[in-house]
Amino acid sequence: MKYYSTRSKTAGGFKDGVSFATAALTGLAPDGGLFIPVEMPRYAEAVITSFPQMTFHDIAIETIKPFVKEEIPISTLEDMVQSAFTFPAPLVAVGDRLVLELFHGPTAAFKDFGARFMARAFSFLRRGEDKPLHILVATSGDTGGAVAEGFFGVEGVFVTVLYPKGRVSSLQERQIAGLGGNIKALAVEGSFDDCQRLVKAAFADEGLKERMALSSANSINVARLIPQAVYYAVASAEALRRSREVDWNWPRNALVSFCVPSGNFGNLTAGLYAHAMGAPIKRFIAATNINKTVPEYLETSVYSPRESRKTLSTAMDVGAPSNFDRMTAHWSFEVLRKLIIGAWASDDDTRKTITDVHKKYGYFLDPHTAAGWAGFDRLDVQDVMTLYPCAILATAHPAKFAEIVEPLTCPIPVPPAIQNAVRREPHAITIPVSLAALLEAI
Ligand SMILES: *Cc1c(COP(=O)(O)O)cnc(C)c1O
Repeated sequence: MKYYSTRSKTAGGFKDGVSFATAALTGLAPDGGLFIPVEMPRYAEAVITSFPQMTFHDIAIETIKPFVKEEIPISTLEDMVQSAFTFPAPLVAVGDRLVLELFHGPTAAFKDFGARFMARAFSFLRRGEDKPLHILVATSGDTGGAVAEGFFGVEGVFVTVLYPKGRVSSLQERQIAGLGGNIKALAVEGSFDDCQRLVKAAFADEGLKERMALSSANSINVARLIPQAVYYAVASAEALRRSREVDWNWPRNALVSFCVPSGNFGNLTAGLYAHAMGAPIKRFIAATNINKTVPEYLETSVYSPRESRKTLSTAMDVGAPSNFDRMTAHWSFEVLRKLIIGAWASDDDTRKTITDVHKKYGYFLDPHTAAGWAGFDRLDVQDVMTLYPCAILATAHPAKFAEIVEPLTCPIPVPPAIQNAVRREPHAITIPVSLAALLEAI
């Protein structure tokens, strides 16, 4: 598969295709665009037919293979999938909805799927290189933990995570700065935006580029995006299989829709990939908090990115989603509007949903998942009827945001992954907002 930049489209198509390895290891295209595959692969008909009988790993291999096939041998891909996806993604019924729990990985958020696969891909693609790879990543919380965990102990790769000092939770800090080894944590005396600016400046620094091979690991990376299509395909197959059982509450053989709590829209874009490849999915709900740039675009066709506003679902506080260019490079407004319904929720909606869902069903929602659930509740009845069965993506474990969820519910049982992180001592180096200080620390 060849990859192109979303910005180097010409009238007759694209130019300057690159390999998966280049797209993954470069992250962002030199012209500032995002890498996209030149064509969307499709599952073979026989594969789609046997989806309901296939395992998670089988579907993962069928999903990722066409994107990497000339570059990663199938036996290597099998090993990568086996060692990256070591935890389940169960589809559970909660009231009249399904919840796709994506929080059973080591950092208790869905980003583990992408980060763990990406780490293994990087390690393979750089085999035989003697210059170590340095990954620089800025985080507002969740990304840093998932990337640190994904790359921890991976040979030939060093990771530096920049986070805003005092502005991530104590658990997130332990996930980022508690590992040590090949993971370096820098607590920046500034905001998340300052961290991002510093990373950008470091990437532009010629001296640094000469000294070391640099790469990013944020959600625009194709190596993180593609593995996320896997759980959509697996869950759609699972829903189809269950629709043929007697205790199914929805129409037989009805296709599932997914409600996706969104920020930078990497997760939703991965769902669109799974759908385009032929996975049995009906529609998507793009659920945001009050940072509702994309729901407004879907309603009005006007895209107006803006500064983000702070909410309870911090990982969704994005006013200019980075994957928007990718969505619109692949699909026209008309296509997107038919496939995706926009929804959004306020912090009050989110809080009320956490309380109500716990009271009614004894089920804990984290603030991101709750924003998605609340967004779904605000949709028109007419839309809702066409969306069942609907699976809401649970993007993080509620215990990760206990300080918000517990006052609205009761103490949450803490999963082992979080217990392990809590026991670690964070070791971060504090730096001012200065490129010189960053270069010194790397
Ligand atoms: C990152 C994140 C999101 C947003 O995902 P995008 O791919 O950026 O849309 C939602 N919920 C949680 C818990 C996250 O960590």
